[in-house]
Amino acid sequence: MNTDRRKVVLIGTGMVGMSFAYALVNQGGICNELVLIDVNKLRAQGEAMDLNHGLAFAKSNMKIYAGEYKDCKDADIVVIAAGVAQKEGETRLDLLQRNVEVFRSIVGPVVKSGFDGIFLVATNPVDIMTRVTYELSRFGSSRVIGTGTSLDTARLRYLLGDYFTVDPKNIHAYVIGEHGDSEFVPLSQVMLATKPVSTILADDRNEYCVDDMKQIEEQVRTAAYKIIEAKRATYYGIGMAITRIVKAILGDENSVLTVSAKLCGEYGARDIFIGVPTIIGRNGVKEILELTLTDEEQKKFHASGNVLREYFDGLTL
Ligand code: NAD
Repeated sequence: MNTDRRKVVLIGTGMVGMSFAYALVNQGGICNELVLIDVNKLRAQGEAMDLNHGLAFAKSNMKIYAGEYKDCKDADIVVIAAGVAQKEGETRLDLLQRNVEVFRSIVGPVVKSGFDGIFLVATNPVDIMTRVTYELSRFGSSRVIGTGTSLDTARLRYLLGDYFTVDPKNIHAYVIGEHGDSEFVPLSQVMLATKPVSTILADDRNEYCVDDMKQIEEQVRTAAYKIIEAKRATYYGIGMAITRIVKAILGDENSVLTVSAKLCGEYGARDIFIGVPTIIGRNGVKEILELTLTDEEQKKFHASGNVLREYFDGLTL
């Protein structure tokens, strides 16, 4: 009996979904079965063929095929990267409502298959779509996760690493809140190794300053707009972020990642799904870490949560 079977189903084989699949194949060893599902079946079939042809060059073997919703039955993780694009003149809320319909056509059949694993959502607006998945699936909140601000956090660490000329892996910092315009960096929580960056900024023997931090935060917040302007969409970074989260789950890593998770009183909020540092392991959310925010940071977090609440309340489920 093979006890090390790790099966992932990807729903939505567009740019984001396939960037994830490509990263999964290239990093190797994360899972050994990948099923591709899309409303455009031919596309899913073509993508499966294309990926399979690269397996001879990959680190480890994987079974990859275009499948059906019934294939979700024994999957460990269902990743959702399906969505529709904004039409001309369409409001964000109209788009959101159409994506709710897309999710209705996905989450119902996944649950009906007998799926008993973890949902990981990447479709935007990701915090809302994660909550929609939670409401439609009626799964426990620990088993419904969104990519949240994981990509934004990676962007932040990259920029801070560049600024301080330090390996981004030694920068401990998070972008929290909505994956969108109201997200922010709690500066009080930014560390270079174990040294608070606020201490480095207060030391006038160096050239580092708070204004530069604000600029970096703005660069993170507007990164997606810039990339979309240049190449229409963003997908490699988010594909790798999804891969990272999948690896943390299947490897039972208990890694801290800023996913979109349901708050149950943490940060003085409940019921919303929002990007927060979260311990992720085999069963999904193990624990939400509650950072010690300053009053000003707490206000920003509260405001970001209100944005998400308003959007969700405007939807018909
Ligand atoms: P895309 O248009 O390339 O792909 C979307 C795919 O979804 C298409 O293949 C389409 O056929 C499929 N689809 C549509 N309706 C479906 C349905 N009912 N069932 C199954 N499949 C269906 O788009 P993309 O660039 O891959 O982006 C996908 C989503 O990811 C978007 O919502 C985008 O905003 C989001 N995104 C999220 C982040 C993040 O940080 N979370 C970053 C970038 C993009």
